[in-house]
Amino acid sequence: MSTARNVDELKGLLNPLAVYQEYVRLTKKGRRSTGLCPFHREKTPSFSVDSENGLFYCFGCHKGGDLIQFVQEVEGCSFPEALEILARKAGVSLSFSREAKGPAPDRKERLRKLLDGSAAFYHASLLSAPRSSSVWAYAKKRGITEEAAKALRLGFAPPEGGLLPHMRREGFQAEDGQEAGLLLERNRGEWAERFRNRLLFPILDVMGRTVGFGGRALGDEEPKYLNSPETPVFQKRDTLFGLNLTKAAVREREQALLVEGYMDFLAVYGAGVKNAAATLGTALADGQVRLLKRYAKEVVLNFDRDQAGLAAAQRAIQLLLAEGMRVKVVVLPEGKDPDEFIALKGGSAYIELVEGAQPFFRFLVDREAKVLEGGSVEARMAFLDGLAIYLSAVPDPIERQAYANEVASWARLGGDVNLILKRLAKAVPGDKRVEPQAASPVTVPVTEQMLVKGYLAFPEAAERLLSDLPEESLKNMAVAPLLDSLRKRRAPDGPEQTSLLAFIQNSFHEVPSEASLEAAVAQAKGAYLHKRELTIQRQLQEASRRKDFELVKILQREKTALVEQIHSLEGA
Ligand SMILES: [Zn+2]
Repeated sequence: MSTARNVDELKGLLNPLAVYQEYVRLTKKGRRSTGLCPFHREKTPSFSVDSENGLFYCFGCHKGGDLIQFVQEVEGCSFPEALEILARKAGVSLSFSREAKGPAPDRKERLRKLLDGSAAFYHASLLSAPRSSSVWAYAKKRGITEEAAKALRLGFAPPEGGLLPHMRREGFQAEDGQEAGLLLERNRGEWAERFRNRLLFPILDVMGRTVGFGGRALGDEEPKYLNSPETPVFQKRDTLFGLNLTKAAVREREQALLVEGYMDFLAVYGAGVKNAAATLGTALADGQVRLLKRYAKEVVLNFDRDQAGLAAAQRAIQLLLAEGMRVKVVVLPEGKDPDEFIALKGGSAYIELVEGAQPFFRFLVDREAKVLEGGSVEARMAFLDGLAIYLSAVPDPIERQAYANEVASWARLGGDVNLILKRLAKAVPGDKRVEPQAASPVTVPVTEQMLVKGYLAFPEAAERLLSDLPEESLKNMAVAPLLDSLRKRRAPDGPEQTSLLAFIQNSFHEVPSEASLEAAVAQAKGAYLHKRELTIQRQLQEASRRKDFELVKILQREKTALVEQIHSLEGA
């Protein structure tokens, strides 16, 4: 593996837009790409990336900076961690951060390395197992081909174990294995491997790092499914199975199919649904919804039809609506889960059902069809009140009203539609969501912004023009420290200046031409001269009041020169 010796070398190896795209859906508009900000809730894009220098800025929440600051912010990690993440994306190792950090590598990084090595161990043990063995027999029964097993790096935990000696050979301690959730301490110093005689599904985070395993028993042993416990690198509520594989397809379609568990994921992925992801057998959580929202606008739910599955779907609908996402629901006939349905009817029949998925409220209404058909007025009102809970989760009032209208017509409630809407509206509280408080906007005069943009575009011409500006005029600008760094061919001085540069680079003024740059400089100069004239005027009055005629003479000469300069500037 090649190495990057410093931050600039690392940055040079990355395509910044591609990195941003992993977190934000971006649309290209000239040299800027815009999208929905990952840092605050919004409906119209205020997040912008300058494709030339890779700086980002959000005009909604005013976060801005370079790629490293972005990764720190979005991953919630430290500067060295962000460098590690970016190095992995670039496929290089860092020769500098390790020195800076001393000999002990970061704890999380060590756990991830161990988990990755364990995944390789389990995968090799699956591939070397005879095809006639029980693990392959089980895989075959579940429709898992060798090709799929390789693509998903499935593993086999042998009944006799073997991970611990493997770990030790790789330089890890048993305690590392315990922290990674792979080993259990039976008695003091006596270790047992968590996974034995199971087919293993490595669980990867969205960055493609192994964070844990899901293990399926090969026979009727209990528990049927055994997952890694939560560890410093694995939180179920922030992880979706398979999304690391499918995020590009999810982003492209702006839609994700969400299923329960890795077996269902394998089945739908194998059936040709490339935009799927799975929860890990737990209820959908906030962190998972935010993860989905990075890539999709719409989520199609396909949960089990048993009581637990229905409850999970209802909760998921509310969470997704609350994040402003559109929600559809697939209902499989005969109470099958996706895995069973595909085995029975085939992949294309399944895809057809996914494509015909219904908006969430139709699913809810249909569930109550019996109540609505033969029910009493009270039952209907109770139904409407129940539905209002979902509608109240929709953050946008207009969208909420549109849903209410559709509910009224889909449910064929009859009677006065307005009365029904009133009932819904009464149960739906007002807009209780509070938009995150935006920081005070950066207020840099447009002329100064143009100077910076112009400087980046035509450094030579800009240098010539700037040298024509009085030193004092430059010094008083909000962009003075930034211009100073640029003129010295240095990176902006600290995160605040980087953020300012990002703001300017992403602002909606286009790059100036040399002529408009000249005009901007002239304007800056004019503003300075006028200010200077006012100061001299005040000094003149003061001097004549004190009858200091010597000073009056000097000031008058200066004023005349100034006025001439102003005239020649304005006449030009
Ligand atoms: Zn924002």
